[in-house]
Amino acid sequence: MNPAERPLIEVRDLVKVYRTGDVELHALDGVSFSIDRGEFVAVMGPSGSGKSTTMNMLGCLDSPTAGEYFLDGRNVAALSGDDLAEVRNCGLGFVFQGFNLLPRLDALGNVALPLVYSGVGAAERRERAVTALERVGLGDRLHHRPNQMSGGQQQRVAIARALVGRAPLILADEPTGNLDTRTSEEIMDLLVEVNGEGKTIVLVTHEPDIAEYAKRVLHFRDGKLAKDEKKTAGSARTRQGTCSLAGIQTQGGGARSALGFAGPPETPDVLNERVQGTRPLPGFGAEPHDFSGEEVLR
Ligand code: ADP
Ligand code: MG
Repeated sequence: MNPAERPLIEVRDLVKVYRTGDVELHALDGVSFSIDRGEFVAVMGPSGSGKSTTMNMLGCLDSPTAGEYFLDGRNVAALSGDDLAEVRNCGLGFVFQGFNLLPRLDALGNVALPLVYSGVGAAERRERAVTALERVGLGDRLHHRPNQMSGGQQQRVAIARALVGRAPLILADEPTGNLDTRTSEEIMDLLVEVNGEGKTIVLVTHEPDIAEYAKRVLHFRDGKLAKDEKKTAGSARTRQGTCSLAGIQTQGGGARSALGFAGPPETPDVLNERVQGTRPLPGFGAEPHDFSGEEVLR
């Protein structure tokens, strides 16, 4: 299939079982969907219905118990550790409810940090981080730390961090959950603009007002996809991001354990540290490293 035509995301029969002692919990129970380039999709459903679990799978932060996940045609389960790192660095960006910025780094440092991991040189890191912060309207807040910014500003920094790697996909888990109505609207307007510039957006929300911004809503219930609601046909844009996943090689036949995630369920903090880049994915050679602002930018 022509790469521009294949879905950006395709999941088939995704299952996630959490085991706590003797208790098995089917957080995802056979979920299948695909998402095309340029779509803006909201994921809705009651608390505990599997929304965040789905996002963690899509973001390669956790691996499914069973099922398949193709990101831009690549079988994610078959990617090696280095290629997974590249996917997370260059293939997608995250935005979370709690912003998840590093408190000791200023806006510029937080946004530049992912580029350290993708091997971008210092001058370009700074330039791209400034551009991303200007894009979200924070060109005059480069040296503010998270505790010196409002919630809406912190979320803009997080969006800039998601944009700086030029990934084609942005995953946002309740990005307006900690924001007041007006600020939520501003953040959603920004995400709509970013979608208009060609980014594919998948956004979890339990607020119908927020889901209104999306062109399609996936409704989850009890770990299943209960309804796939398409609001407008044919309005998805297809402009390509600059950072293509092409060139990522898969390894052989798709052993799921290749992800190296086997083990007990991990806490949200661990997942967040992976997103921030302070904790490597399992199977990575590198030790976590506590970057200073100087190291990020110089
Ligand atoms: P949502 O985001 O829709 O509120 P989640 O995807 O976070 O729901 O959770 C789905 C189900 O899986 C819930 O019942 C939740 O308690 C359970 N769950 C999520 N993460 C874990 C975990 N790390 N260990 C055990 N159970 C979990
Ligand atoms: Mg959740």
